[in-house]
Amino acid sequence: SLTTKTNELEGISASFCRVRPHLSDEIDAKVVSFPTSTEALGRGIDLTQNGQKLSFTFDKVFMPDASQEDVFVEISQLVQSALDGYKYMCSLANDINQTALSYQVCIFAYGQTGSGKTYTMMGKPGPSDQKGLIPRSLEQVFEIRQILQAQGWKYEMQVSMLEIYNETIRDLLAPNRTGFDASRAEHAGKQYTIKHDANGNTHVSDLTIVDVRSSKEVSYLLERAAQSRSVGKTQMNEQSSRSHFVFTLRIMGYNESTEQQVQGVLNLIDLAGSERLSKSGSTGDRLKETQAINKSLSSLSDVIFALAKKEEHVPYRNSKLTYLLQPCLGGDSKTLMFVNVSPDPSSVGESLCSLRFAARVN
Ligand code: ADP
Ligand code: MG
Repeated sequence: SLTTKTNELEGISASFCRVRPHLSDEIDAKVVSFPTSTEALGRGIDLTQNGQKLSFTFDKVFMPDASQEDVFVEISQLVQSALDGYKYMCSLANDINQTALSYQVCIFAYGQTGSGKTYTMMGKPGPSDQKGLIPRSLEQVFEIRQILQAQGWKYEMQVSMLEIYNETIRDLLAPNRTGFDASRAEHAGKQYTIKHDANGNTHVSDLTIVDVRSSKEVSYLLERAAQSRSVGKTQMNEQSSRSHFVFTLRIMGYNESTEQQVQGVLNLIDLAGSERLSKSGSTGDRLKETQAINKSLSSLSDVIFALAKKEEHVPYRNSKLTYLLQPCLGGDSKTLMFVNVSPDPSSVGESLCSLRFAARVN
């Protein structure tokens, strides 16, 4: 029986907006400062376009001076809830039951390329204060795990990382992966079919799942995934900004003395750039890419909108992304959306699109 259960509304539980600082190589950086085009106070953000002021509200707005730590403080509770998971009594379990109901937590970053999604999710290599919320979340999970282990909890943690590119799933932890080529041995015959079981657990067939025991091990896997992505990048024209990166940590815990069991899933997602690429006159492969990105991002918006409106039909199956995230978006779960925006005046049109996306799904 369930001993803890929260009754979350379906769809997005909370949305945060983050405005990145001006980059030193941005022309006008000193001439036009961010507050001249937008003003924000805590939860609201105003954006002025052609003299017209438009206001948007979020659960939280991070201005350019917000540090990675400032951002993490606001999400650490959510990360904790993946570790708290659903608790069961399971006197018969000798081992961790891999198929019990999972508590799903999902954090994703939405915004145009260059708006700070990857900085928010992964951070920047170098000084540790630049670390983003993926490494910070993992450190927290493994720190708390240590404390809980002292209370008799035994954990298994599993990581998988995938990329959705042109409506195709790519396994970023596939052994010997040296770039994307569907004919290569490591990909041959692999379908990466998405299935959801009755307990709300998602299975992607053939996807590499790695048992992890420390945040160091996960850091190593993140590096490997980044390499897999960048190899594809040279072949596929900066493809990383055109693909969705999905990091999944599965947490399974069992307490022998209390005979309790806990299951949680933490999904951390760096979405493809939301910019309207179509206006740049794409053709061929580029056009196909553009359509695939637009399809999955508009499907995401459609799904969240349908959930918010409590519509009977929720079009999860319209894209790989929404189908993969179905248990997070639709179930009894927690989903947090970051909308990243650039302060660059030349990006005002795209920033407006991102804010409108958030307004629609809020
Ligand atoms: P995206 O992933 O949305 O394309 P990035 O995260 O790569 O954007 O950010 C674009 C650039 O801006 C990178 O050089 C990144 O390091 C920098 N940047 C983004 N957000 C911040 C921030 N909050 N503070 C400092 N630099 C940032
Ligand atoms: Mg990025």
